[in-house]
Amino acid sequence: QTQTPQITWVPYTLKSEDELRFEIDKEAKIKLADGTAEYFGTELALNREYTLNNVKGAIFSWKGCKIEVTDNVKAYISNGTPMLSYANIHSIMDQHRMSILSQKNQQGPRVLIAGPTDVGKSTLAKILMGYSARLGYNPAFIDLDPGQGSITLPGALCASLIDRPVDIEEGLSNTVPFVQYYGHTSLDINPTLFKAQIQSLGISVDKRMEQSDNARVSGMIVNTCGWIEGLGYELLRESINLLRINIIVVIDNEKLYSDLSREFSSGGGNNSSSGMKVMKLPKSGGVYLRSALFRKQTRMQRIREYFYGIQGDLCPHITIVDFKDVCIFRTGGGPPAPSTALPIGSTSVIDPLALQEIQPSPEMLHSVLAISYAKNSQSLLRSNVAGFLYVSDINMETKKISFLAPCPGDLPSKFLLMGTLKWLE
Ligand code: ATP
Repeated sequence: QTQTPQITWVPYTLKSEDELRFEIDKEAKIKLADGTAEYFGTELALNREYTLNNVKGAIFSWKGCKIEVTDNVKAYISNGTPMLSYANIHSIMDQHRMSILSQKNQQGPRVLIAGPTDVGKSTLAKILMGYSARLGYNPAFIDLDPGQGSITLPGALCASLIDRPVDIEEGLSNTVPFVQYYGHTSLDINPTLFKAQIQSLGISVDKRMEQSDNARVSGMIVNTCGWIEGLGYELLRESINLLRINIIVVIDNEKLYSDLSREFSSGGGNNSSSGMKVMKLPKSGGVYLRSALFRKQTRMQRIREYFYGIQGDLCPHITIVDFKDVCIFRTGGGPPAPSTALPIGSTSVIDPLALQEIQPSPEMLHSVLAISYAKNSQSLLRSNVAGFLYVSDINMETKKISFLAPCPGDLPSKFLLMGTLKWLE
């Protein structure tokens, strides 16, 4: 006779503006037993059991509440949070929206969140998305950090229209994004492509804003990666200009705040644009520092979740195609393609925006490729991505390539994009 394992709940009582910070390694549950509370901007439903796996986070309560967690959760209560100043950014966005409601040619708040690694940038983005969606706004969320891939996969730059707070268990995976496949997890591999793709995303979002007044008024929330020196800073400036940002929020870095204020604040240097606000925010003491190894593991976990589902409930399919039925392109940048992978007589290109068609070769094994919606190779870099494939086998004798795909059926397009991202479990 099998017995269902007994769940042991551990209760915590949060006072007004307290948060319960927790660390979950293996699957665990969290439940709001009384009062009101939110998980990074998303309200918890009363008595619903949320299942979480391998996360670090915090449940915050404005008015106090009772939370219960399973006994495999490591947790503690803190009452020193920066939530008031985070909520203040939301109020500024909201005032901006109210002030332009009837002015058809004005843009809503376009907030860019900058700062070093592990200061809570993505967390603030989620909080602002949650608060905006709870008021009925539809902001665009643009994720310019190809290192983690919060919306789709690492290596991708994405924009998504947010119509509800981020799902506590599923994250952002249920939103329909505009995706550009950069193909690398680091910005220095191909900064020119990175800039071109930000521009493309900005154009897609602007088109959407032209069609929907709510989207225009709602504005955008942009998350960036934590590289803020040298080329990293240069790319931040480009992002601010290309996306016509009007509110810059810097978390936990005085120098970055000072540099960006000098350059962008109203009345500042040559690039000053009227109405630009540059603000600084403290980092929450709860933000976890993640090692390079942990980041790599979360990247791999994200790819696994794409194919197998967050709860392991998806069943990916192997699709086998002839070499001749796919056209695989890689962008310039990164290490040059091996000469065996190039058509006879051609050499490796160095133009960062030039596309290079490559022949399937054993080096492609374990690569993650994007399927482009492009109708021809010329529009590849501007086109949205339909989904991703993992190269699970290359047979040079039969000239067939095996892909793992999240769903069965023919590939929606023969145009595939490759970068340097590999999935090695
Ligand atoms: P990076 O730019 O390096 O990707 P980041 O600045 O975006 O990092 P986050 O991803 O927001 O930082 O936060 C880092 C980790 O800390 C995440 O796992 C997040 O869930 C966790 N975290 C953030 N705020 C808190 C908090 N108040 N309590 C507990 N954990 C938190």
